[in-house]
Amino acid sequence: MSIKYTPEPFRIKMVEMIKMTTPQERLQKIKDANFNLFSLASEDVYIDLLTDSGTGAMSHEQWSAMFVGDEAYAGGRSYRKLLKAGTDVFGYDYIQPVHQGRAAEKILMPLLLGKGKFAISNMHFDTTRAHVILSGGRPIDNIVPEGKKPNIRSKFKGNMDITRLEELIEEKGAENIGVIIQTITNNSAGGQPVSMKNMREVYEIGQKHNITVCIDAARFAENAYFIKRDEEEFKNWSIPDIVKKTFSYGDVFTMSAKKDFNVNMGGMLAVKDKSVNAALIQNIKASCINFEGFYTYGGLSGRDLEAMAVGIYQYMEEDYLAYRIGQMEYLAARLDAAGVVYQSPVGGHGVYIDAKAMFPHIPYKEFPGQVLAVELYKEAGIRSCDIGSYMIGNDPDTNEQIESEFEFTRLAIPRQVYTQSHFDVMADALIAIKERASEIKRGYKIKWEPPILRHFQAELEPIE
Ligand SMILES: *Cc1c(COP(=O)(O)O)cnc(C)c1O
Repeated sequence: MSIKYTPEPFRIKMVEMIKMTTPQERLQKIKDANFNLFSLASEDVYIDLLTDSGTGAMSHEQWSAMFVGDEAYAGGRSYRKLLKAGTDVFGYDYIQPVHQGRAAEKILMPLLLGKGKFAISNMHFDTTRAHVILSGGRPIDNIVPEGKKPNIRSKFKGNMDITRLEELIEEKGAENIGVIIQTITNNSAGGQPVSMKNMREVYEIGQKHNITVCIDAARFAENAYFIKRDEEEFKNWSIPDIVKKTFSYGDVFTMSAKKDFNVNMGGMLAVKDKSVNAALIQNIKASCINFEGFYTYGGLSGRDLEAMAVGIYQYMEEDYLAYRIGQMEYLAARLDAAGVVYQSPVGGHGVYIDAKAMFPHIPYKEFPGQVLAVELYKEAGIRSCDIGSYMIGNDPDTNEQIESEFEFTRLAIPRQVYTQSHFDVMADALIAIKERASEIKRGYKIKWEPPILRHFQAELEPIE
């Protein structure tokens, strides 16, 4: 086959054995898990694509830095090392380490939102949506129209719809918009990138109406790679310069460091300008102390701060990013050859299979994305997840099931973990399921669900 796989820019010096189960065993395991893949034991999974969050293989530089972590309660050396790296790379005055991205959201959202306020995003990630709602606000997703069409290949499908953003501000009143959130890359839309032009335009609108612009920055390095590759103006820029420029178009950022810093645990909350946002910074510190830990460790060990400070730089390397995005492109090319539809062109951290296209006869209320996720497990022991109506849940005001823009099954790729032959297992499994897709007649119904972020815990049963 002439489909090209970008060779790994590393060699492997430690491995973890994984085992393949039989189809009969998997049938029983998924039943015992109430058809919720989050309830499976990880030993029962052959290839784990549930998330790319905190699941990467760290470098030996990161592991060795962990041995010199300073575990002081206050004013630790590792904290100062992270601050120095963070201000250097992002150009923000105030950097708050937190234990993961949602901790940053938990601290920030109540400071910007409340009852009657709106958050407008190119697309809220699930935990971001939850924290907007928990703080009393209401999330509005506002992605460009092409972002909603998996079949249309165009660049920067993760962008905010600028025209609609202006209309929404007009409709709701600028004083009622608590925050504009630019998610880079746009996770829920398939890891689709956001252009620098879009970053700039959104920031100008925020400035004009005096609305805080927050960057949900989990995949800032992958996003910068796409800007360099696909945005003419930046093709000769270095990745660190693109990153610095990107962050100049925000007032604050929240970040899950478990993505592009490639650490197992960590996050950040940052404020660009301490002169205009002194009160906000004080409130962040106070909330961090209450919920996370003292502000110089933010719920993390000193060794975690060390691994982050190394990862910030390491995963902006272009050879690494080309290999990383190359893995997605390899899987996508194999799917193209077999006519499996996915959010295309592929984004940064995974391949998002269009389950609606695979199971056109299964309605959103029966969760086609979840159907495919369960089939992938049954077929080959692959664990993926639904990014669709099952994940999005019910309307907080009416309690009605919301119909998602997409019905995706996400194959999120952990960093530096799986090889080309694992990718072939993924492609072969998807192709086999596509061939028998019409035999799968119905989806799932919910037996039990919690009120928020239900996909993590809900119990399902097949509709007969
Ligand atoms: C992962 C993620 C978060 C939440 O971060 P956690 O570290 O999982 O709490 C928020 N936003 C985006 C875009 C993410 O990908």
